[in-house]
Amino acid sequence: MNVVIYARYSDSKQREESIEGQLKVCCDYAEKEGYNIIGEYIDRAISAKTDDRPQFQRMIRDSSKKFFQGIIVYQLDRFARNRYDSAHYKHILKKNGVTVISARETITDDASGILVEAMLEGMAEYYSVELSQKVTRGMNINAEKGLSNGGTTPLGYRIENKRYVLDEERAPIVREIFAKYADDWSMKKICDSLNERHITTAQGTSFNKNSLHTMLKNRKYLGIYIYNGHEIPGGMPQIINKDLFDKVQEKMIANKKAPARARAKAEYILSGKLFCGYCKEKMTGHSSNQISKKGVIFNYYKCKNSGKGKTCNKKMVHKDYIEDIVVNECRKLLTPQNIRKIAKEVVKIALSMDDRSEMKRLESLIQKAQEEKSNQMASLRACKDDTIREMIFEDLGKIGADIKELEKQLEVEKARHYVMTEQQVIAHLTKLTNGDIRDKTYRKSLIRLFVNKIFLYDDRITITFNTGDEETTITDVLLSKIENGLSGKNLCVLNNAVHQDKTL
Ligand SMILES: [Zn+2]
Repeated sequence: MNVVIYARYSDSKQREESIEGQLKVCCDYAEKEGYNIIGEYIDRAISAKTDDRPQFQRMIRDSSKKFFQGIIVYQLDRFARNRYDSAHYKHILKKNGVTVISARETITDDASGILVEAMLEGMAEYYSVELSQKVTRGMNINAEKGLSNGGTTPLGYRIENKRYVLDEERAPIVREIFAKYADDWSMKKICDSLNERHITTAQGTSFNKNSLHTMLKNRKYLGIYIYNGHEIPGGMPQIINKDLFDKVQEKMIANKKAPARARAKAEYILSGKLFCGYCKEKMTGHSSNQISKKGVIFNYYKCKNSGKGKTCNKKMVHKDYIEDIVVNECRKLLTPQNIRKIAKEVVKIALSMDDRSEMKRLESLIQKAQEEKSNQMASLRACKDDTIREMIFEDLGKIGADIKELEKQLEVEKARHYVMTEQQVIAHLTKLTNGDIRDKTYRKSLIRLFVNKIFLYDDRITITFNTGDEETTITDVLLSKIENGLSGKNLCVLNNAVHQDKTL
């Protein structure tokens, strides 16, 4: 897996790891986990005026290019300033297939924080729309500013007065390319046809599969203006309609010739949360190399310290078997009474975690500027000298512009502090009670939301939940099921890793 490292230094904290220190921990971690580091983004000093983190924003933009699949941070608090930002940006990254990995927090803790974040993430679809609407409404997101530093202009557009406008001559080429691809033309055939006619890419080069691929994935053609990780639908002229765009995306996925093994790759949804009860080491997901004639792979979790010549005797456990148990336990938490309790708690924690210092700082700057303005106005009234009056007028103009700018910033900042209501959380959780237990996304979101950590022994299992409930007391029925599953014939076969997973 290709990863990048993000490091940031903020002097607001008393004890702060240096950038170099953060990088070292992240590099070590990447090496240990076998990740391939392909870049670093570092925000060294954040100016006192704004906290816009230019490198962070660049990283979010770059994530859409799909060069990396993970971002390693020293600690999760390096990633985002607050839970709201975190949920917002993680949602964008998720769409680009990128996950955020913390180098230091191996055993998950801060259960309540995780619950809030997971809740926000779960609601992110809704939340993101709400947020970007507010931001758009509030200030048109400094649109001119964003548009002027846009990088390469995609084919089919040109810049006029710093804005994207349709390039009437070349926009039809874009439509032609999408239409041909949707009409089952191969990438090669399309490239050949364009190159024969000496049509060039936005960079002025001839077409190849890569440039075509980038084009066909560019959501700007839908008229979505993408800026600093925010998306503004209708923010620029649309060239491709949604039906055609979606059709092309489906075709691209279908045409991707992934090897059979990779396509069947299992997702170990308990990774990072499942620990060996005996040695407390992580249990990680594996697939056996033994593939049956039917092409089925056998998936299991195994303690990192166990195996030939290692120190721990923990038996391995069948992936679906243990996941089913945990998912079922999560479902049990979703009683109406519990949902109300969780909602109340989540909203309370979210409010207490919400860092509003930036908002307060902007408010006080605006207030100061306004005082300055009224002082100048008073001087103006008292002043008889024309030269001095002119200077005061000039000052007043500047102060006025400053106030406008600060007010814009404040509006964006306010939009960031989205407040979840209990009703929203209850609605979201209630929706989860009706999920299909075999649905992978559903299983994942339940675990992400509720499970803090699991210690697995050969005869029992303890689950700690993010809800702050005590470790689960596993019922007799469940315990006996585990014992049967783990000590029976089943497990001997599992340990020999020749068992074939029939449920896959
Ligand atoms: Zn162990």
